[in-house]
Amino acid sequence: MPSAAKDPYSSLREELYRVYLLKTTLGLLDWDQQVNLPRNSADLRSEQSSLLAALHHDAFTSRRVEKALDAMESINSPSGNDQSVVTRLVRRDFDRAKRLPRKFVSEKTEHQSRSYHAWAMARENDDFAYFAPYLEKTLELAKEESALQGFDRNPYDYHIDIHDPGLNAEKVESLFSALKAPLTELVGLLIDSQAESKPELFRGFPVSHQERFALLVTEKMGFDYSRGRLDRSVHPFCAGDGSDTRMTTRFDPDNPLDSLFSAVHETGHGLYSQGLPRDEAATPLGEAVGMAVHESQSRLWENQVARGRAFWRHFAPVYYKYFHEQLRSVSDDDFYLAVNHVSINPIRVDSDEATYNLHIMLRFELEKALFDGQLSVRDLPGEWNRLCLSIIGLEPKNDTEGVLQDIHWSGGAFGYFPSYALGNMIAAQLWYRVIEDIPALESNFAEGDFAPLLDWLRKNIHRHGRRYDTEELVKRATGKAISPEPLLRYLRERYLPPYT
Ligand code: ZN
Repeated sequence: MPSAAKDPYSSLREELYRVYLLKTTLGLLDWDQQVNLPRNSADLRSEQSSLLAALHHDAFTSRRVEKALDAMESINSPSGNDQSVVTRLVRRDFDRAKRLPRKFVSEKTEHQSRSYHAWAMARENDDFAYFAPYLEKTLELAKEESALQGFDRNPYDYHIDIHDPGLNAEKVESLFSALKAPLTELVGLLIDSQAESKPELFRGFPVSHQERFALLVTEKMGFDYSRGRLDRSVHPFCAGDGSDTRMTTRFDPDNPLDSLFSAVHETGHGLYSQGLPRDEAATPLGEAVGMAVHESQSRLWENQVARGRAFWRHFAPVYYKYFHEQLRSVSDDDFYLAVNHVSINPIRVDSDEATYNLHIMLRFELEKALFDGQLSVRDLPGEWNRLCLSIIGLEPKNDTEGVLQDIHWSGGAFGYFPSYALGNMIAAQLWYRVIEDIPALESNFAEGDFAPLLDWLRKNIHRHGRRYDTEELVKRATGKAISPEPLLRYLRERYLPPYT
């Protein structure tokens, strides 16, 4: 690119592109660490990643980026056009990155890595006391970070805002409290009324067949495998961006539906990544708005679409062909019940789509109390068990099944959990809007045509990148503010009719 005639916006984009190359390379190393890395090669990888993270931070907070931003701010672009949106959002990210001293960033990164290993060990040995000092330090650093960012009076809000721009504890609280009582009542009703599921019917499904079926389904959903992959990892995830989207799932011969729904879930994330504007990949217009919207995409495909009858009207004959032997004695009703079964489980990731939200409420209450100073890390396991009984209806047998089950706090990811339940609410809200806009949607599914849904999501969600914050994006897409009502309506419609 000739540099002499460069306008300020091209200069800014060029700087951002360098930052983007570093960020995506770092992401690839991280993906490789979770998918391929030999066990004894972790030390080298951790040095490689930490060097690249430092280079990325330096590149983004450089004088060159600052000069390009200053130059853009001296021009009066009309607000709302791409240039002014990009300038505003990059300035926000830049200022936030600059407010964190290098020493703080490296201390935090180093602590996170040690804390992760301490958590893994504590979880294995059911020994919360071993992990507690690490978690105390993590919480201290998280509060310090909030203060550095000007959130000293409401430190938890900063961590919610990192994941879902524009949201805070008060807004989350009001949505959760509207959801809690009707959801608890509904879960009680479902557990009392549904037929018994038969997990023993789903055993011995060959992994190679499962993988072929997952590829078939995810490709039908619209995932472009010419710029993405599906690999295996212990914990399924989706990384990369629209130019190179890396999804993973896990395959268990005795839990084939979990494997399939994990693949569908990650494909929901992957489709969002692939639908973001690719020529804006290095700018905020090519990035996802936040975790709640990301999760709404994965949940919509996993729950509203893939647990529905129309989806299985198309795929059941193929599934029965792949697993003819195993499904010989499984009736349609057994199958549908296995796909949609509600039960109280102490483990969040093993929970169904209804009780899952109660798990999130538990974590939200605890995070709030930790940040308010009303709860100490030492008292966390007892408080977890007490609240678990009152919100979910059971007490974990031990801390491995309780407070030690999730990875999030070990890496300092406070404020992340609410995104999951918000994602469930947004997914249901989008769903009712889509079926209103496309009345033939479910008959399309039954014919194996998922393109109308994907086109709607591309148009109403994906193409906007970070142009609007979470609440505004949902309002534009559905005409309404985020609300728990559509989720409650969806859960009643999905779960009540066949069993009452
Ligand atoms: Zn997800």
